[in-house]
Amino acid sequence: MRRREFMAGTLATMAVAPTAIGKGSHRVVACEEAFTLPEIQAELRRIRGEGDAGPVPPHVRAMLDVGEGRLRAMDAARVDMHVLSLGTPGVQDFETSTAIALARVVNDRLSAIVRSHPDRFAGLATFAPQDPQAAARELERAVRTLGLRGALFNSHTNGEYLDDAKFWAIFEAAEALQIPLYLHPRDPSPSLGGPALSIPGFRVGWTFSVEAASHALRLISAGVFDRFPKLQIILGHLGETLPFIVSRLDERYRVESAGWGDRKLRRLPSEYLRENFYFTTSGMNVWSPLRATIEAVGIERVLFAIDYPFEDQTRAVQSIEAAPLNPDDRRMIFESNARRIFGLA
Ligand code: MN
Repeated sequence: MRRREFMAGTLATMAVAPTAIGKGSHRVVACEEAFTLPEIQAELRRIRGEGDAGPVPPHVRAMLDVGEGRLRAMDAARVDMHVLSLGTPGVQDFETSTAIALARVVNDRLSAIVRSHPDRFAGLATFAPQDPQAAARELERAVRTLGLRGALFNSHTNGEYLDDAKFWAIFEAAEALQIPLYLHPRDPSPSLGGPALSIPGFRVGWTFSVEAASHALRLISAGVFDRFPKLQIILGHLGETLPFIVSRLDERYRVESAGWGDRKLRRLPSEYLRENFYFTTSGMNVWSPLRATIEAVGIERVLFAIDYPFEDQTRAVQSIEAAPLNPDDRRMIFESNARRIFGLA
């Protein structure tokens, strides 16, 4: 029985639980759920030369709401908790000192939001990769002082990827703090994007995945996980296609690296994907790719996410409730994996 049904029952109200779709006993924790702040929106408009005029788009209005409106929408969809993160591109397009200052503002505010509803919200910190040492310090503050449960970054920063060793202070901090880093997609870097990857209609559905999956493979290839073997990266959208090609990645890596000697990775690509990555269902709450992902990486590495407000949360929940999973497996995806990975009470 879900917590709110139980509460309703003990209060002996006549209220009927809204469409009882849950079969097992589990809460629903969703872990790629976006919010934003007016300060972030103002700076984004400023650097894009958009000015202040014009109505606030519905998705921005939804992201700005971290109070009653969001909670009502979560209740209606039977979602117990949003693990919140700042919407893409975070602070990564801002000038360095602005990005550092706004990351602090965001993390302070996020911490206050979580404290206002600790049973409904948890938070992933924001940081500015533009200054890796400052980012590492902010991660430490966000976790140790503010109680945030991990951090999220939006792939490249000014066209640069975190496989460059100058960024590795960020990974060192995350590993030491034992927090996962969510690698969230965005528009591709100039060196990856360009006309050939500007495919009308497939900017988010395909190009975002190319960007994020390429970033993940760059981290593996550069030896980030040989240097930081306990580091954990979370990928959305069922791994941005990577779980579906693990066997091919292994086979071709073996061939391409045959003469590399010491430069070779210590483990196979599939081993990093199974030991250093988690995979969320954001925007991909569909049984057949979910089943393939579970088989490729193991169910203990798969987490439920919606991608609010860009995806329909009711449909996302109902899809996993209806999937042919046994109650224990469903609970792992909806709740217990998130509890373990984010250290939720
Ligand atoms: Mn997202």
